[in-house]
Amino acid sequence: MSSISTTNERAVADKESVFSASGLTKVYRMGEVDVHALRGVDLDLYPGEFVVILGPSGSGKSTLLNILGGLDVPTDGSVRYRDHDLTAADEGELTRYRREHVGFVFQFYNLIAGLTAIENVAIVADISDNPLEPAEALRMVDLQDRQDHYPSQLSGGEQQRVAIARAIGKRPDVLLCDEPTGALDVKTGIVVLNAIARINKELGTLTAVITHNASIGAMADRVVYLSDGRITEIRVNAVKKSAIELVW
Ligand code: ADP
Repeated sequence: MSSISTTNERAVADKESVFSASGLTKVYRMGEVDVHALRGVDLDLYPGEFVVILGPSGSGKSTLLNILGGLDVPTDGSVRYRDHDLTAADEGELTRYRREHVGFVFQFYNLIAGLTAIENVAIVADISDNPLEPAEALRMVDLQDRQDHYPSQLSGGEQQRVAIARAIGKRPDVLLCDEPTGALDVKTGIVVLNAIARINKELGTLTAVITHNASIGAMADRVVYLSDGRITEIRVNAVKKSAIELVW
C-alpha cells in the first residue's frame, strides 16, 4: 500500500508544524477503573497534509482527534497549535480556537432539519471573519444543484457532503474528520472521501481523517497507526491514491 520515503519525510520535517503533541496521555476514570485512552502520543502535523489516523475501535483515535480539536483536554502531556499551547488554554480560549480554526466532520451529520443545505452552511459562515461563500462551499462538495433541498430530501452521502461544506464554510486552518464514511456504503463513501481530498488539495487545509478502514490510508500523505493508545507506526505514502482507486 505504501512505502517509506525519506525524501518526503525530510520535506515534511522542514516545515513548521501546525500541531505538535508531546507525551499526550488521557485517562478516563470510570468508577474504580482507569481507562487509558492515550498512553504518551508524540505527533507533529504539518500545513496542508492529508493524514489518516488508523486503528481498531477503542485504540484512542477519537480521543486524539478531540484533543487536537480542543473538544477534550489531555490528562498529561502537551499539545501546541501553531503558537498556542492548547493545554494551557481555558474553556473560553478553546471555544475561540475551535470556532476560528477547526472544521469538524463526524460520522453523523447533525444538520438542522428545518434549514436548507445552503442555510445549514450559512449559519456557520455567519460567525466567521473570513468565510467561504456558502454556495462556493457547496460547489466544492459538488452539491451546487441541491442547495435549496432540506436534509430529509438528501441521501446520507449528500447530507455528509453538506456537513463537510458547513465545516469548511469558515475556511478553517484544520479539518478534522471522525469516521466520516462510517455510516455510508462504499460507493457513497468514495464520493465523500473525494470531497474531503478535494478540499485538502484546493484549499490547502490540513486534514486528518480517522478511520478503522485500512484501505483509506492509501489516500493519505501519511498514515498514523494507533493501537491501545500508542502510535505504533507512521508511514509516508510515496504515491497517493484517489478515493476511486481504493481497494475496499
Ligand atoms: P477509537 O476512536 O479508536 O474507537 P476512543 O478514543 O473513542 O477510541 O476510545 C479509547 C478508549 O477510551 C476506549 O477504551 C474508550 O472506551 C475509552 N473512552 C473514550 N471516551 C471515553 C469517555 N468519555 N469516558 C470513558 N471512557 C472513554
